[in-house]
Amino acid sequence: MSAYIVENNVKTKLCDECNGTMHRTTTDIDLKCGSKILTIRGIVVYKCHNCDNEVVTDEEFGMIEKIFESINKPEIDVLNLDETADLLRVSNQTIYNMIKENRLKAYKIGREWRFMRSDIQAYLDGVSSDKVWGAAAKGGKVCNHDMEIIQREAAKRGKNERDE
Ligand SMILES: [Zn+2]
Repeated sequence: MSAYIVENNVKTKLCDECNGTMHRTTTDIDLKCGSKILTIRGIVVYKCHNCDNEVVTDEEFGMIEKIFESINKPEIDVLNLDETADLLRVSNQTIYNMIKENRLKAYKIGREWRFMRSDIQAYLDGVSSDKVWGAAAKGGKVCNHDMEIIQREAAKRGKNERDE
C-alpha cells in the first residue's frame, strides 16, 4: 500500500501513479505485532480503478499510526531512572538498590541508567502476588525487599487518599 496521505472529505481524487480517478472505498489493514497480526476492517481509502493504487486518508492514517504505536511500543520502550521509579512507585534510591542487588536489569549508558519496559514487566511478573505467595508456599526464593514493595503497594492501593 502507498504511504501517501490525502484529505479526508473528497469523494474522488486523481491517482498519483497513473492520473486515473480514485474512488473512496474501505479496506482491511493488517498490523503486525510480533508474531501476531491485528486486522482493522473498514479503513477509508481512495482506490484507483486503473492501477489498484490505494491511498489512506489523513484521519485514518493518524488512527492506524496510534494503534500501531500502542501495540508495538512495549517491546521497544526505554525508560530512564525517574520514569522507572515512577512506574514502580518507588524512590530512585530503591531503584539503585535493586540494580546493585541484580533484582532489576539495567543498562548504563555513559553516566545514565536505562531500563527496558519489558525488563520492568518481567520483574513485576516475577513479584506478582500470585507468584510470591506460590513461591513462599514452596519455600521458594522470595526476597524480603520484594515482599516489602508489594505490601507497600497493596497498602497504597487500598488507601490512596491517605499520605504515608
Ligand atoms: Zn492509478
